Amino acid sequence: MEVAAAVVAQFDKLKPGQKPQTRSNGDQEWTVLAGVCLVDDQNHTECITFATGVKVVPERARDYSHGTIVMDNHAEMLALRAFNWWILKHIDDDKYFEASEIAGKRRFKSKYSVQLYISEPPCGDASMSYIAQDQPAWKRRKVSEDHDRSEDATGGVARGRAQFDELGVVRTKPGRADSLLSLSKSCSDKLALKQVLGVINSMVSSVVEPIWLEAMVVPESKYVEQDFDRCFNRIDGHRIKVMTTDSEFSYGKHPDKVAAANGVVGVVGGPIETLVHGVKLGSYKKNRAPNPKGQSKFCNWQMWQTYGERISRDNPTKAQNYCEFKESQIERQRLKAHVQKQLGRWVRTGSDDFPLMGTKSATMK
Ligand SMILES: [Zn+2]
Repeated sequence: MEVAAAVVAQFDKLKPGQKPQTRSNGDQEWTVLAGVCLVDDQNHTECITFATGVKVVPERARDYSHGTIVMDNHAEMLALRAFNWWILKHIDDDKYFEASEIAGKRRFKSKYSVQLYISEPPCGDASMSYIAQDQPAWKRRKVSEDHDRSEDATGGVARGRAQFDELGVVRTKPGRADSLLSLSKSCSDKLALKQVLGVINSMVSSVVEPIWLEAMVVPESKYVEQDFDRCFNRIDGHRIKVMTTDSEFSYGKHPDKVAAANGVVGVVGGPIETLVHGVKLGSYKKNRAPNPKGQSKFCNWQMWQTYGERISRDNPTKAQNYCEFKESQIERQRLKAHVQKQLGRWVRTGSDDFPLMGTKSATMK
């Protein structure tokens, strides 16, 4: 089965309530579907994770999230987040992982190629021409006003679809021009960063060697080669092969439809969650962190609760909190800083920190 079909097959199994809805006023919702598949050396495709979603949580939620809210709910980022969870769950499974020469680490078997299906081109630079076909850029403000606004709030990064005529630049996630500020970078920019860091997050990278995204699969009808080339040639890193598919996602973007409020994130054979505002459906509280039952298994705090013990066993850390833990990965930080400098105008988000003490791993020591 090809990659797109394998992901769509997982989506098809969802309950009706987990799919985009027809609202009470008759509006039909659209969403983006993404999924991570492994393709082995016999060309056998296995879907590992899948997700839908087009929303992002405003930056100000980082003041109270403490790792309990999933900030970036775009489908491809959710699918990659769940893939990190899957890696930690399977790290000792000899089907997928083997011993590494690096002490305290495991290595993903080279017979597997990691491929990402997305039903739309990733937001940001890789989708600029495609978006331009049916959606106007935000109306440009007068230069002085535009400048003031971006300098104050975003340190100069292009917000969403603003500064539309600029190509090859770092952008924040798109959204309505009047929506609350998010400094979360576009999926194009985050995927470009993964050309150098790999798809594994800081928790996974302390116990697993880098894992590269080998290929991205997008619909042929929405693929603009020059946009993808420009976007992913901005930095020297691992080449992500772009492949196209004829299959169209039936709940995909359409000018007559509205963006779905909810998203779904799931691991095949594992947990499947419906998310809204970065927490499980029914658990959203305005300006407050969700209670533990409402937290996604895939949020940073819950990932540490589940796997911190395992991570600390193989790669002991002196870090007292999550940000310190990330900072202690010197080589990863160096690479990240290098890429961000190459891409330019990469504005950092708030820290969304949480203590590692008091978790299961800390009480183990
Ligand atoms: Zn996106």
